[in-house]
Amino acid sequence: MFYSSREHKSMIDTHAHLADPSFDKDLDDVVARARNAGVTACIVVGELPGESDKIRAIEKRYPGWAFGGLGIFPSSYAPEDVEAFRRLSEQKWVCFGEVGMDTWLVQDEEERLRDESLFLSIVERAKSLDIPVNVHSRNCGKRVIELLIASGHSRVHLHAFDAKPSTIRLGIEAGFYFSVPASIVHSPQKQKLARLVPVEQMLFETDAPVLGPDRASRNEPANIRLALHAVAELRDMDPVELETITDANARKLYKL
Ligand SMILES: [Zn+2]
Repeated sequence: MFYSSREHKSMIDTHAHLADPSFDKDLDDVVARARNAGVTACIVVGELPGESDKIRAIEKRYPGWAFGGLGIFPSSYAPEDVEAFRRLSEQKWVCFGEVGMDTWLVQDEEERLRDESLFLSIVERAKSLDIPVNVHSRNCGKRVIELLIASGHSRVHLHAFDAKPSTIRLGIEAGFYFSVPASIVHSPQKQKLARLVPVEQMLFETDAPVLGPDRASRNEPANIRLALHAVAELRDMDPVELETITDANARKLYKL
């Protein structure tokens, strides 16, 4: 392993919750630290349509840096959120995210089916609009990959994905992108993901304020560089080369 002395160029945090209340007081400082760390853009995902005004305000405050997604997180939405999502999906968003399925949180079979059909309709809509989906899945990775493949949508980003290697390979063969979070520094599961995914299909993310390098503290986009260096070390790559490739991946997928 070696570190290059060349200056870093550009990293994109492809999944961060900057509308989270934990950033209300010091978001300017958080974004300044991210910019200092070479984070040149950030996909600001949402968990519920109710956050979308706040996400729009963040886009306006950091133009050309913050790009908003419209999200609806499995398990935590009400019927009126689905209506709001449909209405807001008429507007322009960089992606639909965070969306997906979670059969760890959702135990009830009927609720799972409801989540699955909502997810499918969102993927269909994203496909028709030609925007990516920024996908959460827990405990149901294989099902999510199968549904995404069946949908025929090619602009797919699986965030913090955890599944068996054979399932990860299915997603790789389908051409999907996988993002590695900063929690890779302590997570064997994320290290497994980072070993499997070809660098041409790899992205980085923080999932701020969670999934940080230190479980007890708030995570923020500047920490994304820790993920880059962890993967570079793991794969015995020049971090500058890895940065260049993954930056191009994110720009291509999100058309930035
Ligand atoms: Zn998230």
